[in-house]
Amino acid sequence: TVSVCWLRRDLRLGDNPALCAAVRDGGEVLVLFVLDDTLRRPAGPVRPAFLYRCLRELDERLGGRLCVRTGDPARVVPAVAREVDAHRVHLAADHGPYGRRRDDAVDHTLRADGRELARTGSPYAVAPGRLRTAGGTPFRVYTPFYRAWTAHGWRAPMAEPTGVRWARRPSDGIPDDPDLGDVRLPPAGEAAALERLGEFLHGPLRGYAKRRDIPGEDTTSRLSPYLKYGCVHPRTVLAELARAADPDSGHSGRGVHSGHSGGLAVDAEKFRSELAWREFYADVLAANPASAREDLTDSLATMSYEAPGDAFDRWRWGETGFPIVDAGMRQLLAEGWLPNRVRMIEASFVCKDLHVHWTHGARWFLDRLVDGDLASNNHGWQWTAGTGTDAAPYFRVFNPVSQGRSYDPDGTYVRRWIPQLREVPRAMVHEPWTLPDGPPDGYPPPVVDHAAERREALARYEAARSRR
Ligand code: FAD
Repeated sequence: TVSVCWLRRDLRLGDNPALCAAVRDGGEVLVLFVLDDTLRRPAGPVRPAFLYRCLRELDERLGGRLCVRTGDPARVVPAVAREVDAHRVHLAADHGPYGRRRDDAVDHTLRADGRELARTGSPYAVAPGRLRTAGGTPFRVYTPFYRAWTAHGWRAPMAEPTGVRWARRPSDGIPDDPDLGDVRLPPAGEAAALERLGEFLHGPLRGYAKRRDIPGEDTTSRLSPYLKYGCVHPRTVLAELARAADPDSGHSGRGVHSGHSGGLAVDAEKFRSELAWREFYADVLAANPASAREDLTDSLATMSYEAPGDAFDRWRWGETGFPIVDAGMRQLLAEGWLPNRVRMIEASFVCKDLHVHWTHGARWFLDRLVDGDLASNNHGWQWTAGTGTDAAPYFRVFNPVSQGRSYDPDGTYVRRWIPQLREVPRAMVHEPWTLPDGPPDGYPPPVVDHAAERREALARYEAARSRR
């Protein structure tokens, strides 16, 4: 007998509950991936390239037995199940709006065929929809969610199954990478994810709570692309984090026994709370599928916005004249990744300096991010826009100059991404228009007057509130 394990956002063999369930069926296991055009459509070349690289690594680990098929999963998955006469198709539950519809359609056809769709686990430590407030409603506020999430806890990671007989069936093959131009991506796949996790836990984790907002240094885990594609399960990350932070655990990692466990415990707690934001946003999206496209709350329903125009285009390509904003967008174009602080600065600039609705900025991010994730991205944007969960008070408008001075005081970050600023003195590097001769050649003057746009944003906000 053959069981099918249909992988989607869980491209790994270790700590993979659905794969373990397929192995427990006792026969051969066919590992299937379906290249689905619906998922590829909103993305530029970066995510497909990273995905194909992850698939190649997985295929290698399976001895060339990964079965890749192209087409609509609602048709392809039942056809594969028929082809190998599998009684069951195993998968991890998907709680996103599209994923749920897709899986229900597959379930329906399989059932009509006398087969079964078995959902085991999810890409989260606690599955979206599992936690509820005391009143029985889904969470809308992060802090109580975090408390409930911590109290709920999660299982220990599962070992990679051994001695499995992997089935081999014809595969459409993994496409060649799309043209990436000069974009540099991190190494793909499960081994790279685990290596990066180890490097982070024994390196930048120490100091993470204080330094995670400094974009000029390597201060965060950069695990987001791996979590996006499930090259590592968050449960594995949480278990390894607990081991690295507990000096009594016998963990042999460097620095762990150096007597600073208090500080390290604070860093570990902060890191855990960031992982919980990912879980929170997935939970919010599962409870409010429409929030992927529209405001989660109607608090700003009557707000007036500008259509994206020339200034928005200059933002997209890192040509606004505000160094921290432009450095961020150039990093996004070059690496498909941005630190969280800079993502917030970008979102504030679009929503409050350009008065453009968050959906436009969110779409551009999803086009370019290697970790682009509907839940984290669109709710991250909504948080800044003031339309989402725990919304930052609308009147909190990020000033790009003071953000630059606070988080990139020496200008290390902006100089890295904007060559024209390399020689600008520290005091002026975040406002090069104040140089005696204006901004250096090849770098534009500011596209807006921040002080004026801040006033404009607040006026629009007051007007929207008074119309409610
Ligand atoms: P670390 O600081 O090392 O954090 C570890 C992990 O925790 C991250 O990999 C991520 O999975 C999770 N995490 C951390 N911060 C957040 C957060 N604020 N919200 C949700 N999860 C978080 N994250 C994405 O994975 N995909 C996105 O498309 C995305 N878009 C964003 C858009 C905006 C406007 C904002 C403000 C944030 C967005 N984030 C997104 C969240 C966050 O910026 C990234 O997860 C983080 O910068 C990734 O870098 P890291 O792995 O080094 O993070």
